[in-house]
Amino acid sequence: MFTTLSDRLAATFKNLRGKGRLSEADIDATAREIRIALLEADVALPVVKKFVAAVKERARGEEVSGALNPAQQIVKIVNDELVTILGGETRRLRYAKTAPTVLMLAGLQGAGKTTLAAKLALWLKDQGSSPMLVAADLQRPNAVNQLQINGERVGVKVFAPEPGNGVGDPVAVARAGVAEARRTLHDVVIVDTAGRLGVDAEMMQQAADIRDAVSPDEILFVVDAMVGQDAVNTAQAFLDGVGYDGVVLTKLDGDARGGAALSIASITGKPVMFASNGEKPTDFDVFHPDRMAGRILDMGDMLTLIEQAEKSFDADQAAKAAAKLTGQGGDFTLDDFLQQMQQLRKMGSLSKIMGMLPGMGQFREQLENFDEREIDRIQAIIQSMTPSERDNPKIIDGSRRARISRGSGTQVSEVNGLVDRFFEARKMMMSMAKGGGIPGMPGMPG
Ligand code: GDP
Repeated sequence: MFTTLSDRLAATFKNLRGKGRLSEADIDATAREIRIALLEADVALPVVKKFVAAVKERARGEEVSGALNPAQQIVKIVNDELVTILGGETRRLRYAKTAPTVLMLAGLQGAGKTTLAAKLALWLKDQGSSPMLVAADLQRPNAVNQLQINGERVGVKVFAPEPGNGVGDPVAVARAGVAEARRTLHDVVIVDTAGRLGVDAEMMQQAADIRDAVSPDEILFVVDAMVGQDAVNTAQAFLDGVGYDGVVLTKLDGDARGGAALSIASITGKPVMFASNGEKPTDFDVFHPDRMAGRILDMGDMLTLIEQAEKSFDADQAAKAAAKLTGQGGDFTLDDFLQQMQQLRKMGSLSKIMGMLPGMGQFREQLENFDEREIDRIQAIIQSMTPSERDNPKIIDGSRRARISRGSGTQVSEVNGLVDRFFEARKMMMSMAKGGGIPGMPGMPG
């Protein structure tokens, strides 16, 4: 799911690569592409509008960080906005102060409630709880039986109405189920309720009656992510008719466009709490908006890198270096070079940083062989130079090189190598600074 959206967004970001500054026209064009990407992925129109407006505003705003180039900035903004529409922080299950915690599931028939009940029970068991399932879906023939089978599969007790007891009253079953859980010391009860193929008043009333009878600590609305725009309407109808605290998306393993499911949290104001992505009991997990956004953007570690860059970035220092590289504020010196290198290093190991950049896979071997101590040697060499040598490396002749190598405990060839590489790196950085590449990224040593 979400591959179309991923692909379209990736294409949008690609168009921004190599841009030095984003003009108003760039921002407009990007916003338009993001809008199309979201609409094509089936994200609900009001959500798309809000999303695109926020991206535009932030892209124009002064919040833009000096640590990132424009393409990275847009990726970061889109990522943040995705996290926001998906509900922001991960919303954890709230347990009752006094057991049992009562969880009620609501949703249309076929949404995956019964399957989910067992998955949730298994997950709770893994968390150290002792859950019990209550079969209060007396609408769908076979639902009780299915829950019993699913419960057995995951080793969780199922409370069900006695067979042959007539049609049964789901409200009474739910109430009795919770009482039974309390009596038998189960600390969580999951009440499965009936769904219909479409929203109807009678079903809503029944769910509301069950809600009133068992006072759930959490009502979870279960919705099939494959159904498209209807999911949003159903979510709204359940919110009005029964109310709920969180959303569970099911069938995320499907190949539908999925955008509708992504809209639900934003439209209802209720967070997605869990996601289901398969028919096996273990195909289920807590929903993390940030991880989902990362997956959609398919940027993986790129986002981590962006965050690290922001954290360890010294804007003043970089601005000075950048000014020098563009020919203002004097020459870019060996001291600047060392500072930049040290900044980069603050972000973590160089090989790890480089490994996080997309497209670096081809350099894997070189990266693995890269010796982090190289930077220590560079530092020792530069620190063995006099201030005038650092300011003006051109004066470093043969006898100075010999002295520096003795002072730093390195070979003359290493001093030679560094001085040569400095001139090369300076040239490269100057052209990058003019082209608006990554500021403060010195040439990689070695
Ligand atoms: P209920 O009517 O809401 O109780 O829905 P069920 O739990 O009976 O699920 C309806 C169908 O969807 C069943 O065939 C399930 O196996 C299937 N299903 C449920 N969750 C998932 C999921 O995450 N992925 C896939 N592929 N199928 C699912």
